[in-house]
Amino acid sequence: MGLKRLTVNLRIAVIQLNPQIGQLEETVVRARSLVRRVERYRPDIVVFPEFALSGYSFHSRPEISAHLCRPQEGPAWELCRQISQGLSCITVMGYPERGDDQQAYNSALVVDEEGKLAFNYRKSFLYDTDEEWQCAENPAGFQTFELPLKGKARDRSGDVHDVKLRSAIGICMDLSPYKFEAPFHECEFSTFQLEHGTELLIVPMAWLHSSSVTRDTADPASQKAEIANSMDRLGLPLHGSQNQFQVDVELRDGTCVKECPDDGILPSAPSDAGAASSYSDLSRPDNSNLNYWIMRFMPFLACKWRENWFAEKALKPMLAKFKGSRFTYLGSSLKVPWLFENKNALLVLCNRCGAEDGATVYAGSSGIFKFNGQHGDEETILDTTNRSVELLGNLGKGHEGVIVRDVSFEIER
Ligand code: GLN
Repeated sequence: MGLKRLTVNLRIAVIQLNPQIGQLEETVVRARSLVRRVERYRPDIVVFPEFALSGYSFHSRPEISAHLCRPQEGPAWELCRQISQGLSCITVMGYPERGDDQQAYNSALVVDEEGKLAFNYRKSFLYDTDEEWQCAENPAGFQTFELPLKGKARDRSGDVHDVKLRSAIGICMDLSPYKFEAPFHECEFSTFQLEHGTELLIVPMAWLHSSSVTRDTADPASQKAEIANSMDRLGLPLHGSQNQFQVDVELRDGTCVKECPDDGILPSAPSDAGAASSYSDLSRPDNSNLNYWIMRFMPFLACKWRENWFAEKALKPMLAKFKGSRFTYLGSSLKVPWLFENKNALLVLCNRCGAEDGATVYAGSSGIFKFNGQHGDEETILDTTNRSVELLGNLGKGHEGVIVRDVSFEIER
């Protein structure tokens, strides 16, 4: 009914950091110097990880207390405002939030081009580490918000439009099954975002590499020794790499800058030469993490089996379980086999790197992905090879750095 297709063009910068608790000033210095590396490209959006400046592994409320801030106070707010005002861009950053009534949240700020607070999102699904300091769940649950963008959309005749992009933040564990207990295929976060027509998904993370010690580790002491060995082999301190920046800029105008701290060579396709659980090849993304993240967005992915579920009317009983709280299952509704067909969405994953406590190793591999809504009747494999997801670029798993990409996607208005 008179809907127009508009093409949105954005320049996105994703900053990967290794923040350590108690080293706020040093982290801010590195964050600023990474921003300086790319400021001449004038990004529209700059994204930082979960708990980007404070460090992540807090183990008690007293330990995190001094780091908790109101949204418009403290180091994350100050830095976001300076970046937004200096570059006239949107800045997104994770930080520990002080709420009312002794509540504490794991939150992310969205600061607009003028340095004003555009949105504050609180993590909904909590990870074990968040529970250790009695983090509260987002009382509002998953959310969307409208992000106003001036002059970034064009119609077919080339006329420029201001648009409000349907946007959402997810923080790390938000992508996982609730408490790791919900069935994997419920895809809670991505189903919510599909049903709300979200066009831009921004995910700050402190996502663990598989070499980490977790509640499932059988022998924590020997796993810690293994982590210490890996860092030693890499010639790094126990907290991993800092100050060796990977810079990866690729723009539509042909600008291309690729600097890599290890070997100066970047792989043409994301891959990980090492075994799944070994921490090595720090300038390469961790392929098992990329595959897992992509799988968590199953509702946005092409999959030819949907036609069968739809035709066999298998969907009704599946949906009944949710008592009206959702109208899609793995991307299918009762009206169409694939609700996302012919739509576009952009996913920005910004993970941290390095290690904390000699036990928690983070997976880095931050990147930018576009879901193109195509190939719905062909694809069967739900990983990075699925043609409905375009990998626009990823940093490696272990170095701090910044990646910049020009992205282009279609919306309807
Ligand atoms: N599922 C995530 C992981 O395993 C959760 C971590 C987080 O929320 N920071 O790494």
